Amino acid sequence: MEQIGHWINGKHVAGTSGRTADVWNPATGEVQAQVALASKAELDAAVADAAAAQPAWAAMNPQRRARVMMKFVSLLHRDMDKLAEALSREHGKTIPDAKGDVQRGLEVVEFCIGAPHMLKGEFTDSAGPGIDMYSLRQPIGVAAGITPFNFPAMIPMWKMAPAIVCGNAFILKPSERDPSVPMMLAELMQEAGLPDGVLQVVNGDKDSVDAILDNDTISGIGFVGSTPIAQYIYERGCANGKRVQCFGGAKNHMIIMPDADLDQAADALVGAGYGAAGERCMAISVAVPVGEETADRLIEKLVPKIEALKVGPYTSGNDVDYGPVVTPMAKQNIERLVQSGVDAGAELVVDGRDFSLQGYEDGFFVGPHLFDRVTPDMEIYQKEIFGPVLSTVRAGSYEEALKLAMDHEYGNGTAIFTRDGDAARDFANRINVGMVGINVPIPVPLAYHTFGGWKKSVFGDLNQHGPDAFRFYTKTKTVTSRWPSGIKEGGEFTIPVME
Ligand code: NAD
Repeated sequence: MEQIGHWINGKHVAGTSGRTADVWNPATGEVQAQVALASKAELDAAVADAAAAQPAWAAMNPQRRARVMMKFVSLLHRDMDKLAEALSREHGKTIPDAKGDVQRGLEVVEFCIGAPHMLKGEFTDSAGPGIDMYSLRQPIGVAAGITPFNFPAMIPMWKMAPAIVCGNAFILKPSERDPSVPMMLAELMQEAGLPDGVLQVVNGDKDSVDAILDNDTISGIGFVGSTPIAQYIYERGCANGKRVQCFGGAKNHMIIMPDADLDQAADALVGAGYGAAGERCMAISVAVPVGEETADRLIEKLVPKIEALKVGPYTSGNDVDYGPVVTPMAKQNIERLVQSGVDAGAELVVDGRDFSLQGYEDGFFVGPHLFDRVTPDMEIYQKEIFGPVLSTVRAGSYEEALKLAMDHEYGNGTAIFTRDGDAARDFANRINVGMVGINVPIPVPLAYHTFGGWKKSVFGDLNQHGPDAFRFYTKTKTVTSRWPSGIKEGGEFTIPVME
């Protein structure tokens, strides 16, 4: 059985805690590896070594740090197929989707190549008589990132690349469900020229997360995962005096207006609802058609498209729409929630409960489900299902649809499909959600904008990537300087020339 340890000071090391977790191949249902779960002592030692490596890295000029990122980008392209295969084998998503996972992380690394510009600071000449004032952006020291299973390449890169290029050392605690790609990223960072110790990958579970939260040397923590854990990490990290940003769960609504192109809307819903088996924080999980006629026509268009979805293992290449979910526990949770929807009286118009794939009976596959006539009091509406389950809530008017999305506790992403610019503009202005799509179902901002939700989808006040990442991973220092006048009188100011 493959054993996955930690990446410490530029080397793979075995865990010493004696605790491990199973890593599955979700397509076959087999346990394919065991990942070490670090103890507090292992985490603290990794942090101490990172702190020792950080000052020399911070002293390197920003252009040189950016060149490491440049090289890293080219290595990611070189190893794209290898990374995607390892990712799909542990996560279950299709190969094209795994490449998208790497690509969306790589784009943030590309943005980090602009670090010399982002870190330039500010300068005021003659802020007073003979006084200059300047603000520096300095690294926060040692930062940590705690990341979820659903984007094992992208989110580690969103965290580590900006932190490191700003001159920090970084402790990455990836998801214990799919730890191989983060380890491969660390190897590539070393090959790109990152000094040993600046990036440490410590695998683990709650014990190592708690050790991060209580470690006095770590001054900033970035987290992505479910909302209860986001809130816990935010509260405990802040109580310990750290800078913390936590991105949590989602329940993304898509509003379909009566004037929308319903073929386009149905295609968008199928891709955004079932892609990656619904295991995306920007998945659309609630469709809100406005008006009974819109709803009836939408359901009519959705059903054949959903029934035609191809569910299968990543080894089928481009021939599958989505793969298995990540663990047997995830599958059970989805099945329980689907049953709760049926019991609560929602109409299950596409029933994926009997889905089974010949030759992959032990894999964690879940057939596609479509619910109609879901109401806000139902558990399937309130909870994030994180599976291939789309709920339809019928709204009587635009205002009712808007209010529904606004009243939900999550506020990560949302979308409106319409041909009416006025409705779209009103929606974008009034909705209390962080990322909005207009005729775009998954409005994930590009690397040079920032990514973040509102309400219970976030704890903290800066977004991920884009300019906010440079703010989060640096502290501002402002210097006011005045030099005594008159010293220059004794100097020689004529350029020396040969007689
Ligand atoms: P999770 O909360 O179970 O785990 C996230 C991380 O927290 C992992 O590294 C895990 O080891 C750690 N963790 C788990 N339980 C813990 C505990 N009790 N104490 C301390 N640490 C703990 O999330 P997940 O299942 O890996 O990921 C899916 C969730 O992430 C979904 O809710 C999804 O919406 C969310 N997500 C959000 C965003 C975003 O940007 N808002 C992006 C991707 C995923």
